Amino acid sequence: MPADPVAFARELLRCPSVTPHDGGALSFLEKMLSGAGFAVHRMTFSEPGADDVENLYARIGTAGPHLVLAGHTDVVPPGDEARWRHAPFAGDIADGVLFGRGAVDMKGAIACKLAAVLDHLAATGGRPKGSISFLITGDEEGIAVNGTVKLLQWAAARGEKFDHCVLGEPTNPKRLGDMVKIGRRGSLNGTLIVTGTQGHVAYPALADNPVRRIVAIMSGVTAEPLDAGSDHFDPSNLEFTSVDVGNRTVNVIPPEARARFNIRFNDRHTQASLKALVEARAGAAAQGGQFRIEWEPSNADVFLTTPGPFVELVSGAIAEVTGRQPELSTTGGTSDARFIKDYCPVVEFGLVNATMHKIDENVPTGDLVALAAIYRRILDRYFGNPVNSPP
Ligand SMILES: [Zn+2]
Repeated sequence: MPADPVAFARELLRCPSVTPHDGGALSFLEKMLSGAGFAVHRMTFSEPGADDVENLYARIGTAGPHLVLAGHTDVVPPGDEARWRHAPFAGDIADGVLFGRGAVDMKGAIACKLAAVLDHLAATGGRPKGSISFLITGDEEGIAVNGTVKLLQWAAARGEKFDHCVLGEPTNPKRLGDMVKIGRRGSLNGTLIVTGTQGHVAYPALADNPVRRIVAIMSGVTAEPLDAGSDHFDPSNLEFTSVDVGNRTVNVIPPEARARFNIRFNDRHTQASLKALVEARAGAAAQGGQFRIEWEPSNADVFLTTPGPFVELVSGAIAEVTGRQPELSTTGGTSDARFIKDYCPVVEFGLVNATMHKIDENVPTGDLVALAAIYRRILDRYFGNPVNSPP
């Protein structure tokens, strides 16, 4: 009998694993994976000032190729539980739809990977023609210091070598099969600070108003696009998110104005080239006036997994099951793929993302069955097994 991704998803949804708590989710995976012959490692990572977080690494097989299935079992808080139609940690199914926090982001996908792997192993005598690993963190939705970064370092230190990775973040805007993510934009935060001279509003000649100048610099910085985009990326974008003077009076010209901004950038830029470009534009617009830009450190660099055989293998599996050729996209926010890409090529494919982080997060059980079939095909193709008959 094939493994049931819906039953696995319900088990995981019943674990209240709001970051940094595990709620039993990793113990369930450990039980299932060790039962299937995986060597399972549980690691609790610590950092001063942060909560301890549990993580899991499990591998079966010793040879290559080595395919890593990555994901996170932690979830964002449910919000006001009274507003949920079905309790967020009950795993209720109504009219063929499974409700719960983490249904799509991303316990559902982990359940599908588990079902796919168990079925794949059942068809190959219990051993893969290579190695399969689960790399599962409990620290993706929080500050993410005790999660994937340390898990990857831990694995590298014990000599683990990965060939390819499939991360199960929800990638599809509307229907399963819409979209595969083959990269992500980088993200960089900064604050523009303009200093002037405080004074009486009725005597502007005796003051230097930083509000006038910050407006000019902001429009100078955003007047032209940062670039025209590239083969696989939209144009980079700088967006001001807050302008702050903090002046509660009506008759004082303030001494300082600040504007915070975020840049989402593509592979035409590095963090250094962006900083230089923005500072040059700000300098030209400031016309000699005083300003400075404070940049926050960022661990979110742009990356691209160049389309090739591995991307085609994943896209082909999706097309076979769903009948849709997925778009190869680099849109959306950052994900743990930005850390995994330093170790091996990574693509992201999971469920439909429409309800993630919302009240009544849910997934049709049919999507779970289809996603498990897609992951199964990826495994079968990757390890060169005959592809099973259509689901
Ligand atoms: Zn997620």
